[in-house]
Amino acid sequence: MKTTKIEWTEATWNPSVGCSKVTAGCKNCYAEVMARRLQAMGMAGYEDGFKFKILPERLHQPVSVKKPTKFFVNSMSDLFHEKMPFEFLDKIFEVIASTPQHHYQILTKREHILQRYFSERVAPKNVWLGVTVEHKQTKHRIDILRNIEVPVRFVSIEPLIGDVGNLNLDGIHWVIVGGESGVSARPMNPEWVINIKKQCAEQKVAFFFKQWGTWGEDGVKRSKKENGSILLGKEWKEEPVLEVIAS
Ligand code: SF4
Repeated sequence: MKTTKIEWTEATWNPSVGCSKVTAGCKNCYAEVMARRLQAMGMAGYEDGFKFKILPERLHQPVSVKKPTKFFVNSMSDLFHEKMPFEFLDKIFEVIASTPQHHYQILTKREHILQRYFSERVAPKNVWLGVTVEHKQTKHRIDILRNIEVPVRFVSIEPLIGDVGNLNLDGIHWVIVGGESGVSARPMNPEWVINIKKQCAEQKVAFFFKQWGTWGEDGVKRSKKENGSILLGKEWKEEPVLEVIAS
C-alpha cells in the first residue's frame, strides 16, 4: 500500500531524522522544512527539529509490514550522515536483510561515507543504492556508487540546478530527474533534462521524470501541480526491471 506522496517509492522508513547541508542541492532542503513543521506540531522524533539523531525505537518498523513494500529509507535524513554510528547502520542493514519481502531504496549525498561503510561490508540483496547529483560538480558520486555491489544502483538528479554535461551511466540502472519546488526554487533549464533523458536512452537506463517543480517548462513560476511532469509530449515514469538486473 502506498503511504507516501513520493512518486518513486511506496513507503518511508526513518530510523534516523535530521541532517546538515553538504552541497548546493541542500539549499532548500524539503526535509528541513518538514522537520521544523513537525517539531512545531509536537511530533515524536522531531523534538530537536532538524538536528541529526538516531531513533532506535523505529528500527523494527518494517518487520511488522507483511505485504512486500518498497521503502525509501530516510526521507527525512541522510543514512550516511557523519554522526550516524556504523554500529547503528549495521542494525539497520540487519533489519533489511531479515525482511527480504521488501525492497529498500537508500539515497545519499555522502558518497565517501557510503564508500567507507561498504568497503568492509556486503549490502543485502534487497537494497537499492542511490546518490544525488544536482550539477556537474557532484557527478563523481556516480563513480563511487558504480563500484558498490547491489542489485539496483540509481541516481537522483533532483533538484537539477545546472547542466550535468556527459554522464557515464555504466552500472547504473535508474535515473530520476526533478526540478526544485518551493518559494525559493531555482529554475531548471529544459535542455538540461532533455540531455539527461537522451543519455539514459543511449545507455539503456530507466528514466523517471518526476516533475518540473515551481518553474514550468516555459520558464513561468506557478504551482508544482500545474507545471506537472510532461516532457517532450509525454510522461516518463520508467523503473528498473528487476528480473533483468538479477540475471
Ligand atoms: S543531504 Fe538531503 S536531507 Fe541532508 S540537508 Fe541535504 S538535502 Fe537535506
